[in-house]
Amino acid sequence: MSEQKYDYLVVGSGLFGAVFAYEATKRGRKCLVIDKRNHAGGNVSCENIEGINVHKYGAHIFHTNDKVIWDYVNSFVEFNRYTNSPVANYKGELFNLPFNMNTFYQLWKVKTPAEAKAKIQSQIDKMNLGEPANLEEQALSLVGTDIYEKLIKGYTEKQWGRPATELPAFIIKRLPFRFTFDNNYFNDKYQGIPIGGYNKLIDGLLAGIDLQLNNDYFDERGRWDSLAKQVVFTGKIDQFYDYRYGQLEYRSLRFEHELLDVQNYQGNAVINYTEREIPYTRILEHKHFEFGTQPKTVITKEYSQEWTYEQEPYYPINDVKNSGIFSEYQRLSQKEQNIIFGGRLAEYRYYDMHQIVASALKKVSVHFGEDNLGLGNNN
Ligand code: FAD
Ligand code: UDP
Repeated sequence: MSEQKYDYLVVGSGLFGAVFAYEATKRGRKCLVIDKRNHAGGNVSCENIEGINVHKYGAHIFHTNDKVIWDYVNSFVEFNRYTNSPVANYKGELFNLPFNMNTFYQLWKVKTPAEAKAKIQSQIDKMNLGEPANLEEQALSLVGTDIYEKLIKGYTEKQWGRPATELPAFIIKRLPFRFTFDNNYFNDKYQGIPIGGYNKLIDGLLAGIDLQLNNDYFDERGRWDSLAKQVVFTGKIDQFYDYRYGQLEYRSLRFEHELLDVQNYQGNAVINYTEREIPYTRILEHKHFEFGTQPKTVITKEYSQEWTYEQEPYYPINDVKNSGIFSEYQRLSQKEQNIIFGGRLAEYRYYDMHQIVASALKKVSVHFGEDNLGLGNNN
């Protein structure tokens, strides 16, 4: 039998793998973390360009209602006061998001909640809608025709690559809708960006832990397995089981980064382009996540695209077909003795960062037979 130098082989240095490795190390266990990418941190990783932390895998804003999770991440790096307030550009006109009194004023010049409600209701009444069966009907029955046509339809169809009439209603329910002048995109109590970037969070979690980058677990699976007593797997669960029940599907993204010789390009971190005709869904200007004053700026155009095997799997498609395939893999994973599955790829689930941290901490406490660390419900 080969010598097992490590207690845990952690496949994937994203937030799930990093939290697990940190917690296991704190309990005196020895971990080896591997990643197929050339950097640690998975999708929260940033690249520093001209002094600006560029969110290479799309805008990442940390938000949570759970003080335990907020204090946990702040113990590695202090967070700033960034509040996400994206702006929508529809055919050259600008609107505040999420849908709130500022948006309603910009659309119709209404000044009070009563006027806004009456305007929306008059549009809903004209449509004679029944029980909403898809995203289009759900959106129309909540916000009326103007908001749907200008701010939802084009963006949603670009984002998901199919007509809104073929999408499930729940996608739109994530978006806040309020009758106050409040442009905060999230309802959570705590929100911010790590001062100095997300890499500080990951570096803090992985400090002193063995890390090997540019290594795909599946290229030398036997050798990696032989190095540790147990495996923590945060990659794709269908690949782990050689796709025996078929491939899980994703929605992918393409990012076009540009360094511009201007100090301030768009005045906001995120501007959504909600018309169908503009091919990208949004433009990020990274310096605004950290109130940067650098002489240059980096912007990113985000394009949504179909996923193929060569592309990064970003959003799981939790429809009936894929959920069925996933439950087959999950059944196998639950029988494993020496393998812990976690994170968005292994659990085929859209997790926000605070949910990933909570889920990793819960898995740690179950695994080590401890109390659940006072964690609240993060779903
Ligand atoms: P990942 O970050 O994907 O990490 C998995 C790691 O495993 C990767 O580094 C990968 O290279 C590695 N890996 C996979 N397979 C192998 C293998 N075979 N061998 C070796 N290594 C492997 N959350 C928020 O809270 N707020 C936001 O604003 C937000 N915005 C987002 C925007 C976008 C565009 C996306 C896609 C996600 C966003 N999220 C946001 C979610 C956030 O990215 C996730 O919650 C978090 O990154 C998931 O961490 P993870 O460790 O599960 O996965
Ligand atoms: N959405 C929209 N218009 C916008 C922003 C979002 O119609 O300007 C819809 C769209 O269907 C999207 C959903 O709301 O898929 C959720 O948006 P959110 O920004 O929460 O999702 P993200 O893409 O950041 O995960």
